[in-house]
Amino acid sequence: MTAPALASAAATDSLAAEVARILTALGAAPERFTDGARIVRSPIDGSEIGRVADASPDEVAAAIGRARAAFLAWRAVPAPRRGEFVRRLGEALRAAKDDLGRLVSIEAGKIVSEGLGEVQEMIDICDFAVGLSRQLYGLTMGSERADHRLQEQWHPAGVVGVISAFNFPVAVWSWNAALAFVCGDSVVWKPSEKTPLTALAVSALVDRVIADFPEAPAGLSELVLGARDTGAALVGDARVPVVSATGSTAMGRIVGRAVADRFGRAILELGGNNASIVAPSADLDLALRAIAFGAMGTAGQRCTTLRRLIVHESVYDRLVPRLIEVYRSVRIGDPLEEGVLVGPLIDAAAIAGMEKALAAASAAGGTVHGGGRAAVAGLEGGHYVRPALVEMPAQTGPVIEETFAPILYVLRYSTFEEAIALQNGVPQGLSSSIFTTDMREADRFLSALGSDCGIANVNMGTSGAEIGGAFGGEKETGGGRESGSDAWKAYMRRMTSAINYGSAMPLAQGVRFDVG
Ligand code: NAD
Repeated sequence: MTAPALASAAATDSLAAEVARILTALGAAPERFTDGARIVRSPIDGSEIGRVADASPDEVAAAIGRARAAFLAWRAVPAPRRGEFVRRLGEALRAAKDDLGRLVSIEAGKIVSEGLGEVQEMIDICDFAVGLSRQLYGLTMGSERADHRLQEQWHPAGVVGVISAFNFPVAVWSWNAALAFVCGDSVVWKPSEKTPLTALAVSALVDRVIADFPEAPAGLSELVLGARDTGAALVGDARVPVVSATGSTAMGRIVGRAVADRFGRAILELGGNNASIVAPSADLDLALRAIAFGAMGTAGQRCTTLRRLIVHESVYDRLVPRLIEVYRSVRIGDPLEEGVLVGPLIDAAAIAGMEKALAAASAAGGTVHGGGRAAVAGLEGGHYVRPALVEMPAQTGPVIEETFAPILYVLRYSTFEEAIALQNGVPQGLSSSIFTTDMREADRFLSALGSDCGIANVNMGTSGAEIGGAFGGEKETGGGRESGSDAWKAYMRRMTSAINYGSAMPLAQGVRFDVG
C-alpha cells in the first residue's frame, strides 16, 4: 500500500557533503569515514554518507589492551579531578551541540529537535557525573564487635565495554561513559553498525578533551566499529569486567550469557513493550498530547515508545476517534524540515517488520488505522511509513512483542485490576504510565501491586526519561540500570572492610577460637 506524496522535502543537495563537513569540524580524520568496506546510508534518502572499516578481532584486543593500561593510571587520579575531565567533555559537547545533533538526525533519521535533545542528554549526564565525582559514597555500619568499625568503599571496576543501539547512537554511550570516567574506569565502545559516523564524531571530540587533560591517559576512551562479531569480541574478553549492552532482547540473551560465563557483570538495557492506562478520570486533552509523542515520536523507535494503550470503556469513544484523527494529520517527511514530526525508519528491514506485525494484527482481529509506506517527494530512497493505530480485541499475537516501528495497539478495559493485568501481561518490563486524576488510583499503579516496570509515570507518557533517575527495566528488558540515582554503583567494585582499633580479637557471631 503506497500513500500519496507528502510535503516536499528539504534535503540538502548532498547529505554526504554535510556529514563530511561536520565530521571534519569535530576533528575526525577523513580516512576514518571514507575508507572501509561498510557503507553507511542515511535513512532520510538512502544516500551513501560514509564508509567505515570494521575492527578486526586483533584490533578489538589491542583496543582493550590500551584501555586496560589507561585504567591502571586513571584509577589513581582523584575522583573530583576525573569529574573535571567530564566537565570539560560536557563543555566540548555544548560547543558541538548543533553539529552533532544534526549528524544524529542525518544518520539515525530523528527530527532536528530530537537530534539536539539527544546531545542535550549527553551534556546533562556530564553535569550529573561532575557532581557525582564528589559523592561516590560508601557506608559505615555499626560493628557487632567492640572497638571495631565496619565500612565499605567503592573502587573503580576496570574497563567498561559499551555496546549501543542505533536509536540513541550517542546518548547511550554518554550515560555509561560519563559515569564510568568519574568512577575511575576506561571505556571501549562498540556502537551500532547502523550509526558509526556519530560515534566517530564523538570519539574525535573525546580524543581532543583527553589530549588537553594532563592526567587523562591515551586509551581512556576507545572506539571499535563493526557489527555483532566486533561486539562478541568485546563481550568475550575477560579484561572487560563490566559490559553495558543496549539493544534487542535477542542480543541481550546472547551477551548476558557470554558475560555470565566468564563471571563478568552485564548491564542489560533491552527491548520494551510499554503501555499507558487511560482511566475514567483522565484529563483527555493532556493524555492525547502525551500519547501522540509517546507513540509517534522518534517514528516509534525508542525503547520507551508507547506501544500499547489500555483505555477505560467509559472514555474510549471520546479518546480513540480523536487519536485516529491526530494519526491522520501528523506530518511525516524529511526530519531536517521544520514542522515534520515523524521521520523515517532506520532501514527497509524495519518497514518489513512493521508490515508483518500489522498483517498479524489484522489476522488476530485488529482494526488498523494508518500504516503503510509513505512516499515523500524527493526522498524516494528513504524509509517512510505512516504511523498505525490498531484497535485490538485482545492482547494477543504481535501485541506482546516489540516491533520497532510506530504501531500503537489499543485495548479496552473495565476494571482497574484488568488494566494492571494487561499492563503487566507482556514479557518486557521497561516503561509504563497511567493517566488519572484519582490519587488513590495513581498510587495503586505505583505500588507493589501495580506496574511491574522499571519506569512508571503518572499523567505522562512512557518515553522521554530524565537522566536524574535510574533508567532501565525488568523481565526481558534485562534488569540493568543506567544514568542517574545510584546507577553508578554498577561501574565500581564494592569493598567491605572491618577495622579493629582495639587490642582484643573478638570473632563475629560469638565464635571462640582460643589458641595459646
Ligand atoms: P540490536 O540488538 O540489533 O543491536 C544493538 C547492538 O548490539 C548493536 O551495536 C549490535 O551490533 C550489537 N549486537 C548484536 N548482536 C550482538 C552479539 N551477539 N554480540 C555482541 N553485540 C551484538 O538493536 P538495535 O536494532 O540497534 O536497537 C533497537 C533495540 O534496542 C530495540 O529492541 C530497543 O528497545 C532496544 N533499546 C533499548 C534501550 C534500553 O535502554 N532499554 C535503549 C535503546 C534501544
